[in-house]
Amino acid sequence: MFPEHGTSPDDLFETMRQAKAGDVDWKRGRLGLFVHYAGDDVLDVAKRAHQLFFSENALGQSAFPSLARFEQEVVAWALDLFHGSPEGTGNITSGGTESIFLALKTARDWASASGKGRAPARFVVPESAHPAFDKAAHYLGLEIVRVPLSDDFTGDLTAMEAAIGEHTIGLAASAPAFPHGVFDAVAETAALAGKYGLWCHVDACVGGFLSPFAADIGRSIPPFDFDLPGVTSLSADLHKYGFTAKGASLILFRTSDYRQFQQFSSDAWPRGAYSSPTFAGTRPGGPIAAAWAVIRYLGRDGYRRLAHTIMDTTEALKAGVEATDLLQVWGKPQLSVFAYGSSAVDIFSVAQGLTDRGWMVSRLSRPPGIHMGMLTPAHAPYVDEYLSDLRGALEDVRLGKITTVDRTATYG
Ligand SMILES: *Cc1c(COP(=O)(O)O)cnc(C)c1O
Repeated sequence: MFPEHGTSPDDLFETMRQAKAGDVDWKRGRLGLFVHYAGDDVLDVAKRAHQLFFSENALGQSAFPSLARFEQEVVAWALDLFHGSPEGTGNITSGGTESIFLALKTARDWASASGKGRAPARFVVPESAHPAFDKAAHYLGLEIVRVPLSDDFTGDLTAMEAAIGEHTIGLAASAPAFPHGVFDAVAETAALAGKYGLWCHVDACVGGFLSPFAADIGRSIPPFDFDLPGVTSLSADLHKYGFTAKGASLILFRTSDYRQFQQFSSDAWPRGAYSSPTFAGTRPGGPIAAAWAVIRYLGRDGYRRLAHTIMDTTEALKAGVEATDLLQVWGKPQLSVFAYGSSAVDIFSVAQGLTDRGWMVSRLSRPPGIHMGMLTPAHAPYVDEYLSDLRGALEDVRLGKITTVDRTATYG
């Protein structure tokens, strides 16, 4: 029932604090997904900026030139980071899903204006692409064709080329894909798109704000951005490794030629012309302000420092997993998302052993595995504890102590 009377802030915050007590303890590294924590200093900057623009609305660009400026600057910084040209454009969106939605919507309208792709228009993507592609296609009247992965967990290029037909308007590659943390062959995919005159979207939602800095500190990161001539659009989540407030991602386009296909305009009602580049109408100012502030606060050297911790943590975990001799990391994941499984033991029993020790474990369905993503600096202090619990879980499995096993792999 709708509350009849108001409640005092003291009472309601007490109720909310109690409700929170049952949530996962992400500050103690219990969780790989959902929260990106880079320390209290970064969180504090994000919160203060968010609070300062809590009430402002980025739909009103003329009322809030501050937000329009922050958004333009973040887009320009990201275009610089991803080797775009000053001709590039983009927007801050509410998240990776909306960024992918806008890439596909823009590609759809570009294709129909240029007479490409017989209906129903199709996008060809590797099997490991994020479900946001299917979600966007469902809303937009497009079809997604998924092609199998090669043994190294990258999208199979031969299968991708074979899937291109008269309905195809675009290709996509992930940098990296979330299931195994492996980069698709982005350069080859972009070249394929160039060869057939297709759109090429790079989904760098998870990796975008880590890859350039991991490369800076000497990690080997394959080319994935606008340096590759065939890349048309790129998505990169600010609210993941940008460590900004939730509700912030970027959709970027190679040139402003695509702007007309991104924008939605209507003059159908009595209130006057409406025109908007994103899915949302009202757009919260907080996430835009927080993105601007956190990037300015950290700068390249701040992100490099975080990349050091993240990559060292990931490498220590991968080494510890493989040192058990019973477990193996799937493929050669380049960043901070990976999955491991086993040909010697039942991996979901191992997952159960970890769950019993208080870890929130994510399961991978194909191949069966334990999913480690996304690792952040919050996990650094818990590497030894995790690996020790992993050895304990393996011992429980060996002794036949684990009887009921959860085998469901869900995301979200
Ligand atoms: C997280 C993610 C998305 C979707 O982003 P949301 O912010 O959850 O909407 C898309 N692609 C990849 C590779 C991702 O990791």
